[in-house]
Amino acid sequence: MTKRSVEAVLAPPRTHMVGDGFKVSNFFPSGYNIPQDRLSPFFLLDYNAPVEFSPREEPRGVGVHPHRGFETVTFAFKGKVAHHDSAGNSGIIGEGDVQWMTAASGVLHKEYHEKEFSRTGGTFHMAQLWVNLPAKHKMEAPRYQAIKAGDMPEVQLPDGRSTAHILAGETFGAKGPAKTWSPIIAAVIKLGAGGKADFELPAGFNSTILVVKGDAVINGAAAPVDNLVILANDGTGVEATSANGAMLLVLSGEPLNEPIVAYGPFVMNTVEEIRQAMLDVQAGKFGVLED
Ligand code: MN
Repeated sequence: MTKRSVEAVLAPPRTHMVGDGFKVSNFFPSGYNIPQDRLSPFFLLDYNAPVEFSPREEPRGVGVHPHRGFETVTFAFKGKVAHHDSAGNSGIIGEGDVQWMTAASGVLHKEYHEKEFSRTGGTFHMAQLWVNLPAKHKMEAPRYQAIKAGDMPEVQLPDGRSTAHILAGETFGAKGPAKTWSPIIAAVIKLGAGGKADFELPAGFNSTILVVKGDAVINGAAAPVDNLVILANDGTGVEATSANGAMLLVLSGEPLNEPIVAYGPFVMNTVEEIRQAMLDVQAGKFGVLED
């Protein structure tokens, strides 16, 4: 087994607000001008490192907006988010939960702090990943998967002090509940103090690890909290350790190898498809959602 070398360890770029509810750093594609296909099928990663929100009656968030051609996957590490979309799906995710929304042919949605969380205020810690869809699946019907923390198989690691929760694909001998449109592995590793995770990510899969909590060492590179590690495709093996404990979000996927044309909330393959998406939004083809 050849270890993957560490291509980059990225500190969170300067934050910006998405609506008034998400204070995010964009790791890719824009934060570091990473080529749009470098981490395909993953297109975008916005990370909201822990931030304190004061109590407020009217929930903060981002109002009604469209998406087409990809999936939004929202990870809640702390705090709660409520979601509503024009396909009729809604849900609330809290600590450890994941919301996997396939926009595909098109939805309107809105994302707000959950009412009670907004009232009490507190620490808010999230990530949103955009997973691009293969051309042949971009116009599928929208789909919504609410994946609670307890829905993910928990695997005890051989070090006796660490665990892995499997969200998608097969790894650590378990299979995650998320349905995906292309081969993807996603897992959350919780390293205990002095813990170690030894695993493989399939050859050629684009792979990245977000350090959600604590400091880790990944394939010999220091990986501080809130940093993103990009692994090269020159091997398969990954060894992650932590002196004081850490939580890692591991993302690995088979590249789509298709042209990408992205504009705002649309990720398509051609300029004509972007134009069509805008016309379809104007024509009301993404449905209706109250603000
Ligand atoms: Mn959105």
